[in-house]
Amino acid sequence: MPNQKLEQDIKYLKGVGPKRAELLNAELKIFNIKDLLYYFPYKYIDRTKFYSIRELKSDMAYIQVIGKISYFETIGVKRKQRLVAYFTDSTGILELVWFKGTQWIKQNIKENTEYIVFGKPSVFNGKINIIHPEMEEYSKQQEKLDYSFQAYYNTSEKLKKNFVNSKVIHTLIHNALQLVQNNIPETIPEYLIKEHKLLNLQEALLNIHLPSSHELLLKAKFRLKFEELLYIQLNILQQKIKRKEKSNGFNFSKVGKYFHEFYEKNLPFELTNAQKKVIKEIRIDLGSGKQMNRLLQGDVGSGKTLVALMTMLIAIDNNYQACLMAPTEVLANQHFNTITQFLKHINLNIALLTGSTRQKERKILHQQLSDGDLNILIGTHALIEDTVKFKNLGFVVIDEQHRFGVAQRAKLWKKNVQAPHILVMTATPIPRTLAMTVYGDLDVSIIDELPPGRKPVKTIHAYDSKRLRIFGFIKEQIKKGRQVYIVYPLIKESEKMDYKDLEDGYESISRAFPPPEYGVSIVHGRMKQVDKEKSMQLFINKSAQIMVATTVIEVGVDVPNASVMIIESAERFGLSQLHQLRGRVGRGADQSYCILMTSFKLSNEARRRIEIMTQTNDGFEISEADLKLRGPGDIEGTQQSGIPFDLKITNLAKDSQILTLSRSIANEILEKDSDLTDEKNRILSLNLQKMKQFKIDWSDIS
Ligand code: ADP
Ligand code: MG
Repeated sequence: MPNQKLEQDIKYLKGVGPKRAELLNAELKIFNIKDLLYYFPYKYIDRTKFYSIRELKSDMAYIQVIGKISYFETIGVKRKQRLVAYFTDSTGILELVWFKGTQWIKQNIKENTEYIVFGKPSVFNGKINIIHPEMEEYSKQQEKLDYSFQAYYNTSEKLKKNFVNSKVIHTLIHNALQLVQNNIPETIPEYLIKEHKLLNLQEALLNIHLPSSHELLLKAKFRLKFEELLYIQLNILQQKIKRKEKSNGFNFSKVGKYFHEFYEKNLPFELTNAQKKVIKEIRIDLGSGKQMNRLLQGDVGSGKTLVALMTMLIAIDNNYQACLMAPTEVLANQHFNTITQFLKHINLNIALLTGSTRQKERKILHQQLSDGDLNILIGTHALIEDTVKFKNLGFVVIDEQHRFGVAQRAKLWKKNVQAPHILVMTATPIPRTLAMTVYGDLDVSIIDELPPGRKPVKTIHAYDSKRLRIFGFIKEQIKKGRQVYIVYPLIKESEKMDYKDLEDGYESISRAFPPPEYGVSIVHGRMKQVDKEKSMQLFINKSAQIMVATTVIEVGVDVPNASVMIIESAERFGLSQLHQLRGRVGRGADQSYCILMTSFKLSNEARRRIEIMTQTNDGFEISEADLKLRGPGDIEGTQQSGIPFDLKITNLAKDSQILTLSRSIANEILEKDSDLTDEKNRILSLNLQKMKQFKIDWSDIS
């Protein structure tokens, strides 16, 4: 049976054996033939192209040349010895250099024999050389060359130490392909292969490892990416459809007294069109009889809180309770204050529950909650503790959701006999491609417009040496009545030093901005909650013009009068963090500034991040750039998202077209055949089931 061969243990493959098998298991998670065939190269070198020595430059990638060694020379003494071979073609001389294994080279590599030399050119003493080149005798290589692109595979230090390098892996894959021959069962139905002119799996696997032309290599990549994404999308979309089929939702049929009273009498400003659009989308969900599972994306400052609040009022109009969960106490407090303020003329009970809520208060609160006397509960993850019982929870808002794990969120579902409606809000815009994969089973609303009158924040990069000038600028701004944040990085690994930086910074700022003319407050994670509160309050009521802080203020804090954000050691922050921090200013009508302070020494990547920040204010653009710089695995939110994320061949930063295609095809298929019972979709259904066996069932988790 063909299937059995694919599932055969790797240790029985020619060239493997028990010891190598163990290594491949542990280092590359390769257990059977199929795993090996799906271990894809990370690059290819065109081995049809030869350079002449004269053409070589030190900035070239891997290249090959043909020529002969005229003679060897050993240079240096003892341990610092190196072996140099002078390699020539008709155009020049190239130095080949070995620091190790020189004995073997001298015995096995012949002078005056034609070789193909393969490696990366570099420069030493003004001369082009290649260090530790790969060498193959020209006459021998000729026979073997039945493919033009050579595939290169990632290995690990441990594998290399045990002589399993890229070449060995390539040979093993060769053996595996021979073993399975023409018996690789297809994973995509015939009709899709025809319709989209895909390579079949057999050809695709052959050409991904041993491409016989550039064109076939591209086709192989396309086919395998498509396959990978199609199954992910089928999985996500099928769950979405199933959930919609089975999960009934509370029907919020009316928009009543509270909503209208607020909207008509208490709303301090006109809603933006984007806010109106989103509220409409939400209202349709709430009245559909199905549970809402919606992701609300909107850049920092776009007014998501208000949308959440108005949705809460609809829940209350329909005799349900609502709650809002925020990732930090600072943020929960802030939401509590904002919402209490917004609703001050409306007779509703709102409470705050965080880790710092006293036991006595907590007891009262629990009672009120289960009696139904409380309408809105705002808090941190303290909300999801089992002791917190609602009388009738109908609507849940989760703010800055990337801070919560999937399991934490799932607990909120269980707070009523029937799952409440869920609105997940995030200000870290997620690139479209990622959103489709990570949050592919949520419906998405986007606020793509900021409230009117906001001026874009001006972002400036300044080296540390300009600090005095920056202080002058701060003074000017304070004179105009503005307030200033100064933020220090806090990275877990170097926490001690970071706190020292923060404290030193606080001291020098306090000296430069002395009382009574100035007030400086400080907030960081090591402070007690009450002290944090006090400091925040000083800043909010303007007794302090400067707030020195760590990233505890990163999310959500809203002080419209603050118009300057200074970020110290900005090179140490990631793009999304920088964007979040910048979002703390630019909330009022005044021109705001974000100043990114860095040292002179910057890595290329850090420089690029700073550049992007000074070029754009658009969170979506920034998140796309972030994805390109870092790759999807590192983007905030993906790790905690809970969706398995080991893409083998797709690069979400580059393959958005294939993703969109596979998503629309998956949609089309499921629209007609949501259970995949149609005979022509049998392969899909079989493979999808296999895929699910290895993964936790996420279907009842948002
Ligand atoms: P975010 O989307 O980052 O959570 P917020 O909800 O904190 O943004 O809103 C940012 C600020 O904009 C708040 O001060 C809020 O009161 C204000 N705001 C919200 N909607 C509007 C609007 N339509 N017009 C004017 N200001 C608004
Ligand atoms: Mg917010």
